Amino acid sequence: VPSIVLIAGRYKVPLYPISRGRNWGYGDACPVTEGQALLDLSDLQGIEVNDRLAYAVIEPGVTQKQLFDRLERSHPRLWMDATGSGLHASVLGNSVERGFGHTPFGDHFAHTCGMEVVLADGTVLQTGMGHYGGSRLAHTYKWGIGPSLDGLFSQSNLGVVTRVGLWLMPRPQRFEVFVASVGNEQDFESFIERLRPLRQSGVLQSTVHISNDLRTLSSARPYPLDLTGGRVPIPAEVRAKLLKHAHYGAWSAVGALYGTPGEVRARRQALEQALRGLGRVRYITSARLRLLKGAARLLKRAHLPGAKALADLAATAQPVYDLLRGKPSDFFLQGPRWRARTPSPTSPDPLDSNCGFYTVAPLAAMTGEDGRRLLDILYRVIERHRFDPMISITLLNGRAMACVTTLYYDRSDEEESKRARLCYDDLLDALMKTRFIPYRMGIESMDRLDPDDDTFWQLVGRLKEALDPGHVLAPGRYNPAEARIFKKP
Ligand code: ADP
Repeated sequence: VPSIVLIAGRYKVPLYPISRGRNWGYGDACPVTEGQALLDLSDLQGIEVNDRLAYAVIEPGVTQKQLFDRLERSHPRLWMDATGSGLHASVLGNSVERGFGHTPFGDHFAHTCGMEVVLADGTVLQTGMGHYGGSRLAHTYKWGIGPSLDGLFSQSNLGVVTRVGLWLMPRPQRFEVFVASVGNEQDFESFIERLRPLRQSGVLQSTVHISNDLRTLSSARPYPLDLTGGRVPIPAEVRAKLLKHAHYGAWSAVGALYGTPGEVRARRQALEQALRGLGRVRYITSARLRLLKGAARLLKRAHLPGAKALADLAATAQPVYDLLRGKPSDFFLQGPRWRARTPSPTSPDPLDSNCGFYTVAPLAAMTGEDGRRLLDILYRVIERHRFDPMISITLLNGRAMACVTTLYYDRSDEEESKRARLCYDDLLDALMKTRFIPYRMGIESMDRLDPDDDTFWQLVGRLKEALDPGHVLAPGRYNPAEARIFKKP
């Protein structure tokens, strides 16, 4: 990698590093501007695991599946955290983008420790304690001594990350998934207010994902073109009918409880008590999944009705259960197929099904009022452009939530594609103005990160000048001034 970077510098060819390039919804494997060569790191697939100290050191090409398989096979007492972005997305790429998953280790960048980074001048830097050769603290103590530099290499274009330490979760004795739902849209504020104290106090240890009904529906089926006669967005009466049939609440929170059997029992009680009178809580446990599958088999053998419904339920519950314990799957790639007219029967990759989607993921402080103000903005803009509101709100910690909003569209439909882009632009405008700033940005909008020419982004620009004066590494990525200069009209 240092040699490639030096050659690129000499010939003035900008390089855009990708790990696996599955950055779907935020630009896939595309660079921020035209004319950048992809530095594809997917062949670097090293994994080392320290079982006793519960961490792995991984290279950029390591996929979620590869890390999961390695742990299953050789270190079954350790769990990783996964996202819904499929078996073949990278672990490192998501961590440097500050993505999040579902377990108590769901804040990915927070659980990295010690990076190896190649700078634009070919220097190889070890962050944290790793630069003290032979230190046993490289992947066990994150801050190092002196300035902590790790943050400079996440959501930035200041270096190519070639290795990262990743803390792993010791497998708990007991683990249960919960699905808590509220019936009505108006219950949303109270739902947040009741869940926040549980997140703050640590009763709920993991990132909790709260999806609206349509978002939940989109993971089970494509857009109901048959029922809508081609109309978009989904008419209210069709939406109500489908949701009634599927038994979804207006908002459903999915999370899990981890610990000893006693701890899990106590967490369960606290959760149920907090939601009493507001919503209902159901659980997915390994015993229930076995029962469900067994019952489906029996009914099928006896040719009794209900076999398919039970089997379908198990098929939906299993990947959710798995994800909450860090087992990745391709199941959640169904969502982007919502508007796809020609879904590929064989490939789960959204690009192979001509799925278009933009993701806008604003953050909000974790109060009911903040959440409602944000939802009002999203609903207004999305409705104006005739899309379906697909929203998943993640309680990232006890204080902030990320509202992942996806615009699914059919790329083979020119009018719909144009409308999606306009909708995305309007959403981002409205969100930046109201200070619901996204936690992460798509490649098409890096230039919009700094509407006020503020000191923060000026400093980012100065760091870039100091470390990469030739603008070799990923020009424009999380560098709004540079994005404006490099962007073609
Ligand atoms: P994934 O396959 O997990 O979705 P990507 O390879 O698409 O991950 O990475 C997401 C984004 O993070 C990329 O667009 C790229 O800008 C950045 N990135 C990925 N890997 C690296 C790396 N090794 N060093 C620096 N930036 C990276």
